[in-house]
Amino acid sequence: MSDTNIFRPGDGAVQLDAEAIQRRVAELGAEIARDHQHGDLHLVCVLNGAFVFMADLVRAIDLPLTVDFLSVSSYGSRTESSGEVRLVKDLEQSLKGRHVVIVEDIIDTGLTMQYLINYMQGRKPASVKVATLLSKPSRRLVDVPIDYVGFTIDDAFVYGYGLDVDHRLRNLPFVTSQKG
Ligand code: IMP
Repeated sequence: MSDTNIFRPGDGAVQLDAEAIQRRVAELGAEIARDHQHGDLHLVCVLNGAFVFMADLVRAIDLPLTVDFLSVSSYGSRTESSGEVRLVKDLEQSLKGRHVVIVEDIIDTGLTMQYLINYMQGRKPASVKVATLLSKPSRRLVDVPIDYVGFTIDDAFVYGYGLDVDHRLRNLPFVTSQKG
């Protein structure tokens, strides 16, 4: 049986189809471009989950820009972040004087993003903004500023469009949630 047969779209409460995602990503790209007409726009993708969103988002921004990637992992179980964030892959480029937009797949408790914002601020950028495809505000433990939100969703474990279930299903072109 294939993965998509095990986790069928339609099982869960959250359903974002590929067309709706593409429409929203185009809007976010236009907003980011409008807000960064001047200066050095630098997008930082948080691996692994944000790689699909990042790939679509950069193509929706009609401005010169640069990209970099980092990877973090948080200790804890698969669905519960412990808040102890560890840098697994560091940035390759300097952030000094650049207008940074952190590109994340989902903000849940906010602990990962809080760590990332602090980390970026320490590298003396001109500004730091946050773009996330998904946000689950009902799960927030710390308040983090989010400048660009694709979709606000209820508390459900979601996957697809870069987000995984045990490292799989990232290649689904839509976002869906487990039944429960
Ligand atoms: P936070 O630190 O609790 O905000 O968690 C952020 C990270 O947890 C995200 O970057 C994801 O890797 C992961 N995460 C949180 N909720 C989900 C989900 O519903 N599906 C897949 N990954 C999730």
